[in-house]
Amino acid sequence: MKTRQIAFLRPKEIVAEQKINPIIYLPIGPIEWHGPHLPVGTDPLHASYIAEKAADLTGGLVWPTAWWGTERERSSQVLNDLGLSESEYIVGMDFPANSLKSGYVPEDVFAYLIRSQLEIFIQMNFRIAVLVSGHGATNQLDTLQRLAAEYNGTGRLKTLVELPFVLGDDGLMHVGHASCIETSIMEALYPETVEIDSLPPLPKPIYNTDWAIVDYHTFAGKPAPDRTVHHDDDPRSGSAEIGFENMRIAIENLTRRVSELRKM
Ligand SMILES: [Zn+2]
Repeated sequence: MKTRQIAFLRPKEIVAEQKINPIIYLPIGPIEWHGPHLPVGTDPLHASYIAEKAADLTGGLVWPTAWWGTERERSSQVLNDLGLSESEYIVGMDFPANSLKSGYVPEDVFAYLIRSQLEIFIQMNFRIAVLVSGHGATNQLDTLQRLAAEYNGTGRLKTLVELPFVLGDDGLMHVGHASCIETSIMEALYPETVEIDSLPPLPKPIYNTDWAIVDYHTFAGKPAPDRTVHHDDDPRSGSAEIGFENMRIAIENLTRRVSELRKM
């Protein structure tokens, strides 16, 4: 196909593709603070790329990216892990020192948006919806999984939720926030949008509270005692190679899951 972007296709082309591959991909992610060195569209731009590449392999179409995402208030335990005061009201990655707020929508609004989107997919005769979330917030993934359970359970639409990052050997998702992997992914996809020089040079430590850059150890409940970013997840040691390799594996995992879902 010349493109898998539904917006550029005529009805006849869409119906023809649906007869063979009734799959629709929805990339999802908010405009969100990602440190001084990354663009605010990091999550949705990443999700869009993964969805497009996966659709090329599995067949199906890609819906225009949903530039939406949700976050919740941080628990006192997480605030402590991040090095923030336990009594503060902090939503997602909007830390006090940031110069700009993120474009989060409340969780209930997000759920309505995605539900409406799934209803549109049913109405348009798609049979499989693949929700690719570039944003890894717990409440975002929980909301998507809850909706997927409902649509799968009622048999109305086969729905798959994918967070396109790679599991480490330790069973943890090796993705922090604006740390090594996300920086590498943007260096791979849109190098002109990344400005590593806006961070201090290595080995100067980066504190979580400086720019809301957080390593995956911290999200797994194992922060550094001084609440700095661990060297193995430091944005300054990212590279386009790491980014491409991460996305290659993520696309492979996703296409396998879609093929399995088709057989069910
Ligand atoms: Zn992100």
